[in-house]
Amino acid sequence: MNVIRASVLGYCAGVRRAVDIALHEAASASHKVYTVGPLIHNPAVLERLKSRGVMVSEEESEADTAVTPVRQDDVAIIRAHGITPKSEERLRERGFRITDATCPKVKKNQMLAKELAETGYRVFLAGEKLHEEIIGIQGYAPGSIVVEDAIQAMQSARALYAEQPAVKTALIAQTTISIDDYTAISETLQTVFPAIMICNTICSATRERQDAIRSLCKKADAVIIAGGRNSANTRHLLAVAESVCAAAYAASGVCKPVILVEHAREIPSSFLEGTVYKTIGISAGASTPDDIIDEVERTLRGCRRLPGSRRRARPRQPADSTRQGDPRNAHPK
Ligand code: SF4
Repeated sequence: MNVIRASVLGYCAGVRRAVDIALHEAASASHKVYTVGPLIHNPAVLERLKSRGVMVSEEESEADTAVTPVRQDDVAIIRAHGITPKSEERLRERGFRITDATCPKVKKNQMLAKELAETGYRVFLAGEKLHEEIIGIQGYAPGSIVVEDAIQAMQSARALYAEQPAVKTALIAQTTISIDDYTAISETLQTVFPAIMICNTICSATRERQDAIRSLCKKADAVIIAGGRNSANTRHLLAVAESVCAAAYAASGVCKPVILVEHAREIPSSFLEGTVYKTIGISAGASTPDDIIDEVERTLRGCRRLPGSRRRARPRQPADSTRQGDPRNAHPK
């Protein structure tokens, strides 16, 4: 059995930066360190951070009581997906020292939404209503309208047009939305508001991983995606792979299964037998650490250590390493 990796997979620069910032704070602080909500959507990484003393504060919920009283210099790290300005203000009022690990690309999206709202645009946000990034951006653009798919886009656009036919409109994407979904939403909105300003704010890391998995699906007989089930970009990778494999089935009758695992131990036996699939492809969401991807590959290959894994390691930090210097100075590409 061959095992191949997608050409781009795993940690994106924004997630790596956020994890590095949290580890840096945990290593250097004598005070308590909290993340505002889960730092990223990967349970293994959250466990690792917890073991280093980084606690999670659910700032929007009653669980707030778990972190009070705040001692002087206790740190609140804003997650990679960002938070609303109101939440940030509330944290400051409570006495936290804020460390902002919002991905610079998400921050750019927040500023864009703010500028558009302040200049009279009605902003549509294409993404998941309950995703932290979308909730955070909404805080910067009061009155923005979240649409999750083309059907919602049509309903919301018609309702807005009925009230304000001459309103200026703009569309911003959640950075991790699938390109196909964004295209469908933008084309739908244009049928109602032909002059809508379409802002291409999908992160290149998302595009690269989606392109890579399309190519992987063509080469593999089965595909494993490693990542958190509550990770939006991991779920989008799953959706892209399923759609490519469904199209292959319709065209040739060849069935290529696609599965999502959070850990290697979840890999089903049919993938491990070595006789069912000739080539298995591996991809991973942008919040999946390197060691989980390695573990999946090791398990598929049926050996404890990847031959030559050291030599093949990419020039990047392992998930739980701490860089010299302050990682807040690092920026995603
Ligand atoms: S996917 Fe892109 S926008 Fe999202 S955290 Fe990673 S680098 Fe930032």
